[in-house]
Amino acid sequence: MELPSDGPSLPPAVAVPAIPPPISGLPPGVNAPFPRSPAAPNQRPSSPSVVGPALPGQRINGTDYVDAAAFFARLGLSTTTTPARGSRTTFQGGGNRLDLTADERDATLNGLHLVLGQPPVVRARSLLVSRTDAEHLLGPVLAPAGIAVPPPALRVIALDPGHGGQDAGAVNAALGIFEKTFALEVAQRLKPLLEAKGYQVVMTRNDDRFIPLPERPAFAKARHTDLFISIHFNSVSNDTRTNGTEIYTFAPQGQRSVDSWSAGARDDAELKADASNRFDAWNAVAAHAIHGALLAQVGTADRGQKIRHLAVLRGLDCPGVLVECAFLSNDAEARKAATTAFRQKIAEGLAAGVAAYAAQLPAAKQP
Ligand SMILES: [Zn+2]
Repeated sequence: MELPSDGPSLPPAVAVPAIPPPISGLPPGVNAPFPRSPAAPNQRPSSPSVVGPALPGQRINGTDYVDAAAFFARLGLSTTTTPARGSRTTFQGGGNRLDLTADERDATLNGLHLVLGQPPVVRARSLLVSRTDAEHLLGPVLAPAGIAVPPPALRVIALDPGHGGQDAGAVNAALGIFEKTFALEVAQRLKPLLEAKGYQVVMTRNDDRFIPLPERPAFAKARHTDLFISIHFNSVSNDTRTNGTEIYTFAPQGQRSVDSWSAGARDDAELKADASNRFDAWNAVAAHAIHGALLAQVGTADRGQKIRHLAVLRGLDCPGVLVECAFLSNDAEARKAATTAFRQKIAEGLAAGVAAYAAQLPAAKQP
């Protein structure tokens, strides 16, 4: 079950994203696989994740966009498509394939579904992608070697089994299934797999107890963890068909939660960067690696890599993801989740995902 986004104690939502205006004419960077926009005045960079000169941008409905062909050309990807409204544009090169569709936030990167913070748009026969999606999501996943901010050395991993105690999380009453039980059980299966790879593992809970959401990232921070994985199972009300696996990272500065685009939802974009935004680029790399490895292991439907202002990821001082392994509101998927074999597969998929993430890190950072 998806955790609630933050409540009223948080900074007010802003309609205009706080992406800095483009600055052109900067000297080219050295060893700069992809471009970087400057920090906003009086603000540290929300994600000092990339190096090099910023591409010129243009502001559309308050969002800073850059030319997609120019941006991805720097990463070795090109396209032969002439973009048109509502049509798909494919960028390929260096073993990567990226499909973007004008006016839609759904994208595909190397066969995996991800949901952009803003829809690409077509202007003057060029496809434009939001600067934040380019620099904080797509660029880092395509070229992690170009991420300027070093990730924490991957030694200590926090596992956060969702819910617990009086908070059962998703419940399938007919099958007598509780999310809190499965989340803990998967974490307990994952822990020895990670320890066997040489990592130290800490758990936010190791029994059936309630832990308030903000205490979970605080726990990780106090233990100086290098990666945070929150484990959940999903549900949706009045719908027994929806199924599949999705993964979340904390929304980059100025971008909206994925569910804030639905009718009647408020724009929850935040003007101020959260501490966790420092790791936007590595969040994206970790989510892509873990999502791909988990799907390959469990064979569920790919519901995508998404962003959201999740309280359990807010304030983290290391990369972090929240994974929704499967839907307990779907009886067929819930019955699968109720088997130890399936939960073992989830644990193995997550462990493989951590290994895939570790493989993207600088060699010196490996245990
Ligand atoms: Zn949950």
